[in-house]
Amino acid sequence: MSENERYEAVIGLEVHVELGTKTKIFCNCPTTFGGEPNTQVCPVCLGLPGVLPVLNEKVLRYALRAALALNCEVARFSRFDRKNYPYPDLPKNYQISQYDLPLARNGYVEVNGRRIRIKRLHLEEDAGKLLHEGDGAQDKWSLVDYNRAGVPLAEIVSEPDIRTPSEARAYLESLKAILQYIGVSDCKMEEGSLRCDTNVSVRRKGETGFGTRTELKNLNSFKAVEKSLEYEIARQISVLEDGEEVVQETRAWDESREITVPLRGKEEAHDYRYFPDPDLVPVVVDQALLDEIRKEIPELPSAKRQRFIREYGIPEYDAGVLTADKRLADFFDECASRYRDPKVVSNWLMGEYLKYANATGLSFAEIPVTPEGLVELLNLQDEGVISGKIAKTVFEEMLKTGERPSEIVKKRGLVQISDENAIYAVVDEVIASNPNVVRDYLGGKEKAFGFLVGQVMKATGGKANPAKVNAALKKRLGKE
Ligand code: ADP
Ligand code: MG
Ligand code: ZN
Repeated sequence: MSENERYEAVIGLEVHVELGTKTKIFCNCPTTFGGEPNTQVCPVCLGLPGVLPVLNEKVLRYALRAALALNCEVARFSRFDRKNYPYPDLPKNYQISQYDLPLARNGYVEVNGRRIRIKRLHLEEDAGKLLHEGDGAQDKWSLVDYNRAGVPLAEIVSEPDIRTPSEARAYLESLKAILQYIGVSDCKMEEGSLRCDTNVSVRRKGETGFGTRTELKNLNSFKAVEKSLEYEIARQISVLEDGEEVVQETRAWDESREITVPLRGKEEAHDYRYFPDPDLVPVVVDQALLDEIRKEIPELPSAKRQRFIREYGIPEYDAGVLTADKRLADFFDECASRYRDPKVVSNWLMGEYLKYANATGLSFAEIPVTPEGLVELLNLQDEGVISGKIAKTVFEEMLKTGERPSEIVKKRGLVQISDENAIYAVVDEVIASNPNVVRDYLGGKEKAFGFLVGQVMKATGGKANPAKVNAALKKRLGKE
């Protein structure tokens, strides 16, 4: 048994998600991403004296939606606290957060058949952003942008139920899908609207207690979450194998070197001198509000996945891929309900469509092709107007322009050639100009036939009906 197999990892995630309200959590400043620095600020989010924060109702409603979708118990009474620490990105020197009375607790997310429990979900305000400028030791300074200060965040803390780096990634992907489905966040990791810190420890298999953990920061992609955990687990195991002890600390993931490096010692709750914020009234949630919010929750990814399998008869794998994103799922749903064979739709989406999205880096919202367009394309193929090969060419153009397939086919003269006379004419030409290949074929070399078919397709720009080309060639070569 290798040393790695004698250990298992224990992982818990702390996820910060930016709630997509138009305005900030305690003031009316806009939350739009990418504005000129310090143009989206006011005395409240700048923490000037004499002003009072007021909770944005929409923020509360979004957080409640998230709490219910994550199967949490919502607290009827919760409150905001001040988390004190001095840092230039924090204008008040404290962050308004929730400490001992969070908005929700005890939820769970189903990940590949395992339940990952959620310990708590609470609301807090985001801090500003520091920009480090200059390049030399003498020539270095920092600027601060407070546009992000006061942007609403929900912090979602899991129990240490995760056991592998890939499971951590799957958990995060499930979480993201759920939050996107319920429309409370765009969850763009690259814009920081979904941020994740991981906590990890290792223990010998069979042990029930937990080992000492480290916390990893600076994880700005799913890949970084997975890779950094892999590295850190191996590091902790080798520390223990060397007879030493893991130190509880916060470490940063160094993306370029692919290692974790110590950042600081672990801070404790008392370091923050938490106390209830006297400027804000407690949050009281009644049954009527909860009932109302529950109605706002749409069909969630796992339910949709089950329905796709049941209603459309597609494989579980396909259903998983297609429901990972709401837009993709809706796209499939619309096509599949109108087209005779949902598996064909799934193949196109999981194949050409996802390939294009990955290659271009475009989001599904940015790709102009519509469900009606794809269904029309599939019908054109079924009716024999275009060949399967041409269908791919047409789809490529649809992905770029969103144009209707019938328009593209007409404009580019891509209609399939099914006319027998036209096909025989090309077949005769190909036979005449490839006497050696014909001889090989007649002499028993089956592969030569494929070459001849290819020549006909080439001569017709891929537009000849392949079944008819096959039949015509066989007939001419006396094999039919
Ligand atoms: P703190 O209050 O110190 O931040 P929490 O109990 O809130 O600690 O846990 C923070 C995160 O660390 C949670 O996601 C939790 O699941 C995880 N965690 C706690 N203990 C361990 C451990 N021994 N190993 C791995 N993860 C842990
Ligand atoms: Mg914590
Ligand atoms: Zn403001």
